[in-house]
Amino acid sequence: MIVVSRLFDQDESGGRVVAVAVSAGVWRTFDYLWPEALGAPQRGVRVRVPFGRGDRKTLGFVADCDGGRSDRQLKTVAEVIDPAPQLDENLWRLGEWMAGYYLAPLGMTLAAMVPSAVGRHAPRMETAASLATEPADWPGNLGPRQKRVLDELLEARKQGVGPLTLERLRAHAGASGDSIRRLAARGLICLQTTAQRLEEAPEGIEPDPFELNDDQQRVLDALQGRLAGGFSATVLHGVTGSGKTEVYIRAIRQVVKAGRQAILLAPEIALATQTLQRLARRLPRVAVLHSHLTGAQRAFYYAMIRDGRADVVIGPRSAIFAPARRLGLIVVDEEHEGSYKQDTVPRYHGRDVAVKRGALEGVPVILGSATPSLESIHNARAGRYNLLELPRRIRGLPLPKLTLVELRKDITPGRIELIGRTLQARLAETLDKSEQAILLMNRRGYASYVFCASCGWRLECDACTRSLVFHQALRLAMCHYCQATAEVPRLCPACGKKIILFGLGIQRIESELARKFPNAAVARMDSDTMTSAAQFRKVFDGVAGGEIDILLGTQMVAKGLDFPRVSLVGVVSADTALAIPDFRAAERTFQLIVQVAGRAGRSDVGGNVVVQTIHPDDPAIRLALDHNYAGFVAGELPRRQAVGVSPFARLVRFIVRHTHADRAADAAETLGRRLHDLFGRDRDVRLVGPMRAGVFKIRGRFRFQLNLWCPRAGHLQEVLAPRMDELGAQLRAEIVADADPINLL
Ligand code: ADP
Ligand code: ZN
Ligand code: ZN
Repeated sequence: MIVVSRLFDQDESGGRVVAVAVSAGVWRTFDYLWPEALGAPQRGVRVRVPFGRGDRKTLGFVADCDGGRSDRQLKTVAEVIDPAPQLDENLWRLGEWMAGYYLAPLGMTLAAMVPSAVGRHAPRMETAASLATEPADWPGNLGPRQKRVLDELLEARKQGVGPLTLERLRAHAGASGDSIRRLAARGLICLQTTAQRLEEAPEGIEPDPFELNDDQQRVLDALQGRLAGGFSATVLHGVTGSGKTEVYIRAIRQVVKAGRQAILLAPEIALATQTLQRLARRLPRVAVLHSHLTGAQRAFYYAMIRDGRADVVIGPRSAIFAPARRLGLIVVDEEHEGSYKQDTVPRYHGRDVAVKRGALEGVPVILGSATPSLESIHNARAGRYNLLELPRRIRGLPLPKLTLVELRKDITPGRIELIGRTLQARLAETLDKSEQAILLMNRRGYASYVFCASCGWRLECDACTRSLVFHQALRLAMCHYCQATAEVPRLCPACGKKIILFGLGIQRIESELARKFPNAAVARMDSDTMTSAAQFRKVFDGVAGGEIDILLGTQMVAKGLDFPRVSLVGVVSADTALAIPDFRAAERTFQLIVQVAGRAGRSDVGGNVVVQTIHPDDPAIRLALDHNYAGFVAGELPRRQAVGVSPFARLVRFIVRHTHADRAADAAETLGRRLHDLFGRDRDVRLVGPMRAGVFKIRGRFRFQLNLWCPRAGHLQEVLAPRMDELGAQLRAEIVADADPINLL
């Protein structure tokens, strides 16, 4: 009796309790009181709650509201951000799956799925400009930027495009807000401000420029049944230049016509290329979520998609969380790309999340590539995914012919040269014919190392114990792990002899090109020079417009470029990817060569590829030379199986790190014992480590790794996910968990 009445009392008098998944490095949820004034709580709404020692207001998601009432001393929810949950049921379940599979805190995972600016911005206003005058009326005293703005607007009018937003003018014409306003003040252009909308060509969608060829039609026919609905995963293996994009367009359009939405994922870098821009013009109501959007723009698109005012979403990996409520199709282009994997919490793989989302929503997923990952091709062979192929280039164009050159034998003995005789001769021919060339150099900087030839001393980063890379433009050496810089000494601090700079960096080739081809216009494309979309576009337009003869770049140039006058591709060193200590090294090398070779010969001018190497017998290089994907897979899969790595075993990798090496080592030992307790008797699981990580020190922290391998997907996670807080507790060092890691250094 007493007990009952006490329960009854408590029920009536206590506050309402909700469990909150806080966006912080904790896996469990925390109970908070829900203020009555806020009405009934709903699962999934975002809140701010006091959290941690200083009670800092922290973002969180209501994960459970069935906590009833309680008199416990609990902190109270400080603020409710959304009137209704941003994530629908399917996305919420996707978030829960990701948190479990990628061993990430639920709160941080959900936070990564909803742009933080969502819900905090009134409908955006935007200003657009159009011409108010004819070129004949333009005064002669215009600045170059103002002139470019007017040219851009004139061009837009010729193409029948409506007013251009200021954003677009800034990006395309490189104009400042100031110069645009001055033009308006002089009456040369007029500006109107309206509520923002998705840009659409006035006459609607661009017409199809061509009919599908037989191969494309066959693929589309084979997709028919699947596009109608229900989950399926299809690997579309199409050689470079086989017209995969066209297949995506038709499939997406069909789904949109049926009243549904589509998501197309593309690697970040490809989003800036012309292929995707062309694509956006061929589809209705497209939201392109590239990384240069402001928070407010992101929020604007998010609402557009959620409310069904956008039909197609194109974006990098995070676009997989687009809140499309009528989702009908997901396409992942270049599915083999490592950049789909996020390297911060939650460490998800965009392609794999895409497949999971497809399964949850019951929609088809297409994974396209010229070099499908071994994971995907293995899934196709095991019958989990379907496989469709485009084995030929469009219009019967031949694949480019690859020539292998052993660099050592192709240069003058004793000279440090990176462009051998063969490549040099081909470059000369290409320039003579006014065609263009792309050179791939998979490494930044001028010289890889700053070292002493007499005693072997080398300049290293104090924080990371990695060799610094010399940058000509900075005249400094830089650490590519932490961006620290250092002066290069003239004399060796160890023996006093003169220091030489030696290596294979991209800047070195730049100067070699300048020496060998003084009249060629060379542009560089790497992460040191491409720090904004505008810079990218400039180089891009330069190649498209024919002002640039040789485009020199890192793997950036290997992806998605479609320039008809590029007839020569040179791979300066095919070996740089092979040198990475990673079971995927051969796969990366193969992919890189095939992909960059695919940039050549995309029109009737034909194509040649020169691949320089110091390992002419390496099987990955040999097979890439023949475009022999099947051969590569046939050799590589059994090798992977024999050593028990992906795709035959899944890996969960732990990194333990601390600023003191022994603290890190101790913590790694402790974690190793705990993992051994958990999995020691599990015959499926192999624990390797603790051992030093490939890069032992990054940003001043020492790193140890422990690798858990298991053939069964999700098995490790089932055991680990509920114990993440416990595993990290009392370790006195930071631990990082990574499921299906891509970077093993
Ligand atoms: P992939 O992505 O397979 O490398 P793309 O989709 O970029 O190839 O297509 C290569 C080129 O072929 C593009 O310039 C594209 O416009 C063109 N193309 C695609 N399909 C056809 C077709 N059926 N007829 C003529 N040209 C086509
Ligand atoms: Zn020395
Ligand atoms: Zn460093």
